[in-house]
Amino acid sequence: HARQQATPALVPYEPALGEWELQQIQIERELRLALEDEQFRLFLQPQFTAAGELRGAEVLLRWQHPERGLVAPGYFIDHAERSGLIRPMGYWVLEQAVELLRGPLASTDLTLSVNVSVQQLSDDDFLTRIEALLEKGGFSPRRLVLEIVESLLATPGMVMTLCALRQLGVQLALDDFGTGYSSLRYLQEFPVDEIKLDKAFIDPVQHGTDAPLARSIIAMARTLHLRLVAEGVETASQLEFLRQQQASMMQGYYLAYPEPIDTFLARRELQACSAL
Ligand code: C2E
Ligand code: MG
Ligand code: MG
Ligand code: MG
Repeated sequence: HARQQATPALVPYEPALGEWELQQIQIERELRLALEDEQFRLFLQPQFTAAGELRGAEVLLRWQHPERGLVAPGYFIDHAERSGLIRPMGYWVLEQAVELLRGPLASTDLTLSVNVSVQQLSDDDFLTRIEALLEKGGFSPRRLVLEIVESLLATPGMVMTLCALRQLGVQLALDDFGTGYSSLRYLQEFPVDEIKLDKAFIDPVQHGTDAPLARSIIAMARTLHLRLVAEGVETASQLEFLRQQQASMMQGYYLAYPEPIDTFLARRELQACSAL
């Protein structure tokens, strides 16, 4: 897996101040600066069919910190959520993703899956903003997939937003499926196109081990005619298991790490070349 070398190592984000409140204030200030200063980067993690065909990528946010290096979202998304900065950050991510779909990826039918926070979804103008992005044109709305996680904050208003989004032609995915309190109820109430089977369900799969919950969720997705993306595929035996269960799509370190945009684009060019 030579491509793995292209992915810079992630460093933990450690604020200089110790106390929690000060941390929050400091990180908030730094995040604000980072937005102005364009320190955020999109990484793309390829998604494949069970047959190994590249279908698209999940867009994952990274913070190219001037001193600390590349910071993973686990260290700043919560702070961004708490301060409300997740809104402008989230829109920035969406805009960048759309520019990729309209630009370098325009000649493909690859999808981009963007993580959307509940705060964004409950914004009054979320729908209008998505509409404005789609009106830029140059790509089919189906190629934009919005990933949402189950949340206790979900409101009836959000269900309407999701219905309206689907009417715009955008696809919806339930992220980290199965890890929340009421995933099945979510599935009943939310009109989605895709389920992302959480990593936790295939973690138990070793050589010859069964994973009955994963099997059941995959079968359920099939019954409901939903695409199922297995997250966190790390081993050959997990891949084998998922193929046996006829999971539709896979994503995970075993197949590809999240990678800088250029690396992803080069991957496509290479595939095009070898296909000739
Ligand atoms: P997620 O949406 O569930 O994304 C999948 C996470 O699993 C990513 O972590 C990805 O790098 C990681 N992953 C993928 N394959 C494997 C694997 O085989 N093994 C393991 N151990 N991990 C794997 P990442 O990039 O650190 O992102 C963490 C979370 O941060 C995401 O979870 C998502 O909830 C959030 N996030 C990332 N970007 C954004 C964004 O633009 N907006 C919002 N609101 N949240 C974001
Ligand atoms: Mg996600
Ligand atoms: Mg996930
Ligand atoms: Mg997750």
